[in-house]
Amino acid sequence: MTAPTEAPRQIVIVGASLAGLSAAHALRDVGYGGRIILIGDEHEPPYDRPPLSKQVLRGLYSADTSLPQRADLDATFRLGVGALGLDTLAHRIYLSDGTQIVYDRLLIATGTRARPWPNGAEAASSNVYTLRGHADAEHLARGLAGKPRRVLIIGGGFIGCEIASCCRDLGLDVTLAVRGTLPLAHALGSVTAAFMRDVIRDRGVDLRLETEVARFQADADSRVVAAILRNGQRIEADCVVAALGALRNTEWLAGAGLAVSLKGVRVDTHCRVLTATRAVVPDVFAAGDVAHWPSAIYGNRHLAVEHWGNAVAQAQTAARNMVAGEAGLIPYDHLPDFWSQQFGLNIKLVGLPTGADQFAVVQGSLRDRRFIGVYGAQGRTVAAVSVDSARWLPAYRAAVAEATPFPPIVGALDQADIRPQPLAQVVS
Ligand SMILES: Cc1cc2nc3c(=O)[nH]c(=O)nc-3n(C[C@H](O)[C@H](O)[C@H](O)COP(=O)(O)OP(=O)(O)OC[C@H]3O[C@@H](n4cnc5c(N)ncnc54)[C@H](O)[C@@H]3O)c2cc1C
Repeated sequence: MTAPTEAPRQIVIVGASLAGLSAAHALRDVGYGGRIILIGDEHEPPYDRPPLSKQVLRGLYSADTSLPQRADLDATFRLGVGALGLDTLAHRIYLSDGTQIVYDRLLIATGTRARPWPNGAEAASSNVYTLRGHADAEHLARGLAGKPRRVLIIGGGFIGCEIASCCRDLGLDVTLAVRGTLPLAHALGSVTAAFMRDVIRDRGVDLRLETEVARFQADADSRVVAAILRNGQRIEADCVVAALGALRNTEWLAGAGLAVSLKGVRVDTHCRVLTATRAVVPDVFAAGDVAHWPSAIYGNRHLAVEHWGNAVAQAQTAARNMVAGEAGLIPYDHLPDFWSQQFGLNIKLVGLPTGADQFAVVQGSLRDRRFIGVYGAQGRTVAAVSVDSARWLPAYRAAVAEATPFPPIVGALDQADIRPQPLAQVVS
């Protein structure tokens, strides 16, 4: 397909959340003066999700975590309206209210949703929860305010662990059921995950490892009273949270001929989407959790991350490219970074530990529960994690960005005795 030569007059953004709003801001920042229309199937104006599993559940913030909007944004929001279909030849989007809208440029920013508990009837119980949006957080916060006797959280990823942490802060008894041998292992690798296992248990969570929930038992009012494990054991619980990861919101793109998979929408280095036959669609872009991009930093591997920082940065690049014209296109790349707050700890991760085979604590110590650890893959530094030690992170971030030999920065005065150890369990 040929690149559009005319400047866009109408830019449509589907997905009115972090990536969508960041793109709209960036369009105005670069002087775009045409129409911006944001279409979002949620009813609220764009809001921030990270506080939902942290401050909001602990009752520190209200569930209103609106993202700030610049006063001169001058964008049209069509909220509570979902996109149902896309015709890239006609430049047309079909909407859930029966209307259609045409675009000169389109940004796909439809993000992800929580993976539901697989049994639909069980998932519909009034005391079974998931957490992705504002309404979910309000619903779960109300459930927790009712002082359940035991909360069962299924899934040991970041969101499951953060919710478990909130439950303990609220004085609730909580069981965390994790299918693997360690919580957070896929994201952090075996050493940091084993450290977190100990932290989680010390904070009073009944952490069950290698534990798979098969089904729920309900009372006469269809409220869950217990979970039955694959091994036949029973865990009593009157509040259940399924924290099973996320699914990308791409169903509305079915039939549009785009390269869409479980990883989301495939884009080129300029954030332009590709067709199923890998041709560039020059006027359709994607950014945020829904997109996966070829990362030059990681040898052109296609990265799909669900990180706040990526959603903002990728949306900003997509926005600039939407108005740039072929000659002005800028490539997108981003060193993944992520943070989490749980069990009184501030955890930050830079880089991608996927495939790492070594780990070394380089500052602080696991015993003091303050440290920086670095990840090595085939002799190169590929990621770093800080636990309550973020002030040291920038130096290691630079080492990760440059993939310096592992371990990086040896011999600093304030450094720990560096003893690299084998690492397992980091998968994409
Ligand atoms: C509870 C929680 C805690 C988190 N904590 C952290 C954290 O600590 N650190 C971190 O880095 N990241 C965190 N994240 C991840 C971060 O919030 C996401 O990376 C970010 O929200 C991605 O933004 P996005 O705009 O790409 O997608 P989303 O925020 O998912 O927004 C997509 C929007 O598109 C809408 N939509 C979907 N389909 C359609 C359609 N067909 N038509 C119209 N609209 C549609 C959705 O309803 C949604 O409003 C957290 C996420 C959650 C849920």
